[in-house]
Amino acid sequence: MILYCGTSNPGKLREFQMAAPDFEIQAIQAEPPDEHGSTFEENARIKALYYGSKTQGWVFADDSGLEVDALGGAPGVHSARYAGPEATDRDNNDLLLARLRGVENRTARFVCVIALVHDGEVVKTFRGSVEGRIIDAERGPNGFGYDPMFFYSPFGCTFGEASDEQKMQVSHRGQALAAMFEFLRANAD
Ligand code: IMP
Repeated sequence: MILYCGTSNPGKLREFQMAAPDFEIQAIQAEPPDEHGSTFEENARIKALYYGSKTQGWVFADDSGLEVDALGGAPGVHSARYAGPEATDRDNNDLLLARLRGVENRTARFVCVIALVHDGEVVKTFRGSVEGRIIDAERGPNGFGYDPMFFYSPFGCTFGEASDEQKMQVSHRGQALAAMFEFLRANAD
C-alpha cells in the first residue's frame, strides 16, 4: 500500500521510511504550507489537508517539536524556527543551550502529532511523546534537530548517539507512526 507523506524535512522522511516495513512511503513534492496553528494538532491538520489537496489516496503529515519545562514548553510548535525564520539546527541548538545556561530543571519531551487525510478530510490524528532531559553540550552524530542534546535515560545516551532504529523504537514519531499503521491495517482497503 502506498502512503503519501507531506514533509520537506529529510530527517523526518528517513525515519518515516525506515519505520514502514509493509507500506511504501512516498514524499509529496510541494512547497511547504504556512504553519500558523498554535498546537501540534492544528499544524498537523493544516499540513495534511494542504498536502492532501495535492494528491489522491492516503496522505499524512506530522507536526512535532521539543517542549522544555523550564522554558514554559518552548520551543514547542516553534521548534523548527526557534532562532528565527531561516534558523538552522545549529542556530536552534545554540539558542536552546544559551537559554538553559545555569538552569537546573532540564526535563523536556519530544511530541509528534500525525494527521491522516483521505478524500480531503482528516480521518484521524495520532500523538506520541517521549520524555528526556536537555544536557549542556551536543553529543552524537545521528538523528537531526535537537537529538544531540536530548538525553534519554533508558538508553543512557542522547538520541544523537542512538542509532536511527533504536530511536524509532521509543520516539514520539515512532509511537505516532505505529498507531497510524495499526489504524490503517484495520481500516484501509
Ligand atoms: P516541524 O517540521 O514544524 O514539525 O518542526 C519540527 C522541528 O522540531 C524540527 O525541525 C526539529 O527542530 C524539532 N524536532 C522534531 N522532532 C525531532 C526529533 O525527532 N529530533 C530532533 N528534533 C526534532
